[in-house]
Amino acid sequence: MRRTALTTIGFDADDTLWHNESAFRLTQERFAALLADHAGRDHLEERLIAAERRNLGHYGFGVKGFTLSMIETAVEVTKGRVSGAVIGEILAAGREMLALPVALLPHAEKAVLGARAAGFRLVLITKGDLLDQERKLAQSGLGDHFNAVEIVSHKTKAVYDRIFARHGDGASQGMMVGNSLKSDVLPMLEAGGWGVHVPYAVTWALEAADAPAGNARFRALAHLGDLSRLIENLR
Ligand SMILES: [Mg+2]
Repeated sequence: MRRTALTTIGFDADDTLWHNESAFRLTQERFAALLADHAGRDHLEERLIAAERRNLGHYGFGVKGFTLSMIETAVEVTKGRVSGAVIGEILAAGREMLALPVALLPHAEKAVLGARAAGFRLVLITKGDLLDQERKLAQSGLGDHFNAVEIVSHKTKAVYDRIFARHGDGASQGMMVGNSLKSDVLPMLEAGGWGVHVPYAVTWALEAADAPAGNARFRALAHLGDLSRLIENLR
């Protein structure tokens, strides 16, 4: 059997190892209820996504930027008349997100332990607020199984080149596993590595992308329970 050069596996965290986007959706429901007198649900959602898109370059990914974008949207749709009480409710909703207990996804622990036991170097690679990601990793109980943790502002080819050179044998001998085609899979394929898509039930509008066509290093799995078979087959 042909041996693969795969030595290092990167795991995304949010919506790959633990639930995340579902909390954003629940908070958006609460946000819509708070502003129901001023904006219909669809219009509010559209304005919120537009604000998040505008602000991404300023605030980066994560709950803090999301909270600021909700406030900005509330000011916009109420034409500046939003009350201090409603702003207070939005801030409270954001703080509550930052205190939510971490809920691991099915198969997450087994996939990480299995990849470690199979002798691969493991790197956790995630975007988001530094403090919040560190908190979630600590609560997840998975931190000790990773050789390295990289909390980054963007997931680009250059970022994967750098991370897999630092912690592995270069991107071409690496694999990235994650729920976002746009952030986890496409730039890793561009860097010459394996890109493994494991979809989550819901995808944030700003992470939407089409699956790559005709790339021999692209794989899609129904869930993380199938990862051990994939890496065994590549061996
Ligand atoms: Mg993710």
